[in-house]
Amino acid sequence: VTAPFETRRGDAWIDRLLRRSPAQPLFRWRAARRLVVLAYHDVRDGDLFRAQMEHLARVARVVSADDVCCALRGEIELAPRSVLVTFDDGDRSVYQAGVPILQGLGLPAVVFIVAGLLDTDTPFWWVEAEALVGRVRPSNGHRGSPAEAVREMKRLPDAERREALAALRRAAAPEEIRTPQLRSEELRAMHASGIEIGNHTWSHPCLDRCDDAGVAEEVVRAHDALREVLGRAPRLFAYPNGNRDARVPPLLRELGYDACFLFDHRIGRFPPGDPYAVSRVRVNSTTSMDRFRIILSGLHPFVHRARGLS
Ligand SMILES: [Zn+2]
Repeated sequence: VTAPFETRRGDAWIDRLLRRSPAQPLFRWRAARRLVVLAYHDVRDGDLFRAQMEHLARVARVVSADDVCCALRGEIELAPRSVLVTFDDGDRSVYQAGVPILQGLGLPAVVFIVAGLLDTDTPFWWVEAEALVGRVRPSNGHRGSPAEAVREMKRLPDAERREALAALRRAAAPEEIRTPQLRSEELRAMHASGIEIGNHTWSHPCLDRCDDAGVAEEVVRAHDALREVLGRAPRLFAYPNGNRDARVPPLLRELGYDACFLFDHRIGRFPPGDPYAVSRVRVNSTTSMDRFRIILSGLHPFVHRARGLS
């Protein structure tokens, strides 16, 4: 993940203003001819997520991974106002709260899985690091917030990032932090219900911080594990944290992937110049309907960039 931008206090009135501004129909018109790819993480607010999906079902055409793959190969054209719904990391709330809502509305989606966490009680590393920093900080003299500590860890060479996490675990021992992750049978059930399962690496490092062997292992090991569980090789990949790395596309090509997704808060042209660099916009289940509408149109991403926030 990258923490999807928090809604800052005082932003709600800006969202409302933007949604009613003359720019919104213009941006909607432009977005209608592109593919909007929504990038969610968890489904914390089921009611709001349902409202978002109902809105999509009304105003957009929610397309499947199949549609997108065929369109990328030039076999079909996507209809205007096509939207692809994706989730990164495989948070259990997606299975528990999100999938029933999607199924109820008959909407397809893609879930990108951190394959090494399947069937474990190991938390996502950044969640664990934040919790551990919060716990050990008073005695260890760490400065800054736990979130800042995680941001710093993401910039470290990956071997150092792992060492830092191990040191935090030692400092906080013996209390481990456990998070039940998706089980294989849950993943298969999700897949059987029409959700496309994509590769999001084995352990979710920032790939641009890994050495060559690390990059290959993260991609290939996750690929093999998902194929083993699902009986079918994944064909979509999403960069952890959105960090692009030039060593990844050749691996994906060799493994037969159709597309690779960014986390750049953009609505790119479709078909994209490079199927291994498909833009996505960041959204979450707690996003207000005003904000949701201006994300869908591309107006929020535009203003967000203009304000220098991404
Ligand atoms: Zn992620």
